Formats: sequence, C-alpha cells, structure tokens
Amino acid sequence: FERLCQVLAQGQAAPLLPKGSHGGLCDPADLARGIASGELINHYQPKVVLANGAVDGVEALVRWQHPRQGIIYPDQFISVAEQHGMIEELSRCVMRQALSDARFWRQHGLSLNIAINVTMNNISSLLFPEFVTQMAMETGMPLDHLVLEVTESQLMAEPLKALDSVARLRLKRIGLSIDDFGTGYSSLAQLRDFPFNELKIDRSFVHQASRDPTRKAIFDSTLAMAEQLGMSTVAEGVEDAEDWDYLQKLGRCHLAQGYFIARPMPAEKIVDWLQQWHHRLEGLIAPRKK
Ligand code: C2E
Ligand code: MG
Ligand code: MG
Ligand code: MG
Repeated sequence: FERLCQVLAQGQAAPLLPKGSHGGLCDPADLARGIASGELINHYQPKVVLANGAVDGVEALVRWQHPRQGIIYPDQFISVAEQHGMIEELSRCVMRQALSDARFWRQHGLSLNIAINVTMNNISSLLFPEFVTQMAMETGMPLDHLVLEVTESQLMAEPLKALDSVARLRLKRIGLSIDDFGTGYSSLAQLRDFPFNELKIDRSFVHQASRDPTRKAIFDSTLAMAEQLGMSTVAEGVEDAEDWDYLQKLGRCHLAQGYFIARPMPAEKIVDWLQQWHHRLEGLIAPRKK
C-alpha cells in the first residue's frame, strides 16, 4: 500500500490538488484588531456516520466578519496569524467559542464531538494543550469528545516536533485527526509512529471518486492503510448524491463531511439542521453487506 500510495501520489496527485487561488492575504495589524474586537466567528460543519446517518459531531471553521470587507475565509488569514505570532490567540478564541457552543448543545441534550483545526505551532506549544484541557474542564466538555485536526503537510514538515506533543495530547484522550490526507506524502511507516486516531481523506480524492480511477485508487489504498493502523476514516468533500452513494456502496469509510450533507453554518443553525437531516435521512442509507 505504501508503495502504491507513493507512486500514485508522485505521479498523479499533484494536478488534482484543489488548493484554489484565493484573494490576497490580510493585513496583520487589521487581523490583530479583528481578533481583539471579537470579529472572528466559528461556523460549524457536521460530520456524519455513513453506516446510519447519525451525527457524530461538528468541525469548527473560523470566519472573520470584517466590518467593511464582509466575510473573510481562513485561507486569507490563518497563515498571517501564524507568521505574526497571533495563532495562539486565534486558536484560543476558536476553542473558547466552540466549547461554549458545545455546552449550549449539551444543555439541549445534544452530545456532539467537537473538532478544531490547529496548526503545528499550536499543538507543539506547551501552553495551548494546557489551555485546552483547562477550558474543557471549566465548560464540562469531556476530553474524549474533543478532536484536534492537523493537516498532513504540516505534520510531515516537522514530524519530530509533532511526536512528543501529540503523544501528550493523546494521553489525555483528546482525539487527533490528520486533515487533508493524501496531499502530504506520509508513509505507512511514519504514520505508525504517530498516535493519531482519525484520518480525513482530502476532498480531491473523494469528490467524483466513483468516476475517476486515479482518485478511486488513492481513496482505496488510503482506506486500507487506515484499516491497518486501526484509524477511523472521514471522507471530506462529499459534494453530491453520487459521492454519497459511492461511499454508501463501498461501506468501508466511517464518517462523511461535505456540502451534500451540510455547508458550514453558524452555531444557532445547528439544531434546525439536525431536524432537517433526520427527515432527509430516509432513503440515504443503503443496507450494509456483512
Ligand atoms: P479543512 O479543515 O480541510 O476544512 C474543510 C474546508 O473545505 C472548509 O473551508 C470547508 O468550508 C470546505 N468544504 C467543506 N465541505 C466541502 C465540500 O463538499 N466541497 C468543497 N469544495 N469544500 C468543502 P474553509 O472553512 O474555507 O477552511 C479552509 C481551511 O482553513 C480548513 O480546511 C482549515 O485547514 C483551515 N481552518 C479553518 N478554520 C481554522 C481554524 O480555526 N484554525 C486553523 N488553524 N485553521 C483553520
Ligand atoms: Mg479540518
Ligand atoms: Mg480538510
Ligand atoms: Mg483543507
């Protein structure tokens, strides 16, 4: 599998990568002001269980509601925050909102796993994991309902830096997820050394996998790799009924996420969405083969 992945990744994956061109990066001073004035707002995108449609949890995706420029997306400001020493503060702000929203949902009988996107600097800092556990305790959030997502490319850029801190987080039973998997060229051998428990397959290998043999091959070998490592799998970028049906028939991937299921939405829409989803579910779940 490892070899196959490497061959596929080197030969074919690069032109498939979705990284679209985005507008320019934001102004650092303006970002500092935006963070300080509470302009960063979490939206949430559900993760659902493919086998039965149950809602596993939500992923927080930060947006900047700029007073003059409207909504600014993370691709335009995360790297700026990272480069200008603001990523710790930004991630604290995302975490604070997410835990407070999670507490609200729990009070309404909804126990959702909460996933947060973090950078390598976040997880390898001594202070951030401490902040996370402290906040979780204060808000009554069970640590094993928290998931931290790190992209494969960040992880593999500094694998040694990661090893120690991810081990510490995992000891606290915080979930660890490798995001955008398939774009960062990690090997089975490297993955075996990391105590990550979830692997999110990049949307460039998920969307239209049923029609594209290359995507399908990468998708299949990634699932095989995750199975070998005992990791749970998430297909991201499930954009249409065809993607969904393909995953249903395959019956191998655990969770799905994408526009077909739900777009990221403000916290206050989650409860309504859940109701709609339960109505919509009938007919979406295929009988499973044993
Ligand atoms: P990601 O964590 O891989 O999140 C998925 C991105 O794909 C999100 O973009 C989401 O809106 C979009 N998406 C979801 N479903 C679909 C689909 O079916 N089709 C397509 N084409 N796109 C879909 P978004 O919100 O712009 O975030 C982009 C990236 O920014 C995220 O990728 C994540 O790496 C980063 N990010 C977002 N929020 C945070 C944050 O709070 N902290 C950090 N460090 N990074 C964040
Ligand atoms: Mg993510
Ligand atoms: Mg992703
Ligand atoms: Mg991404």
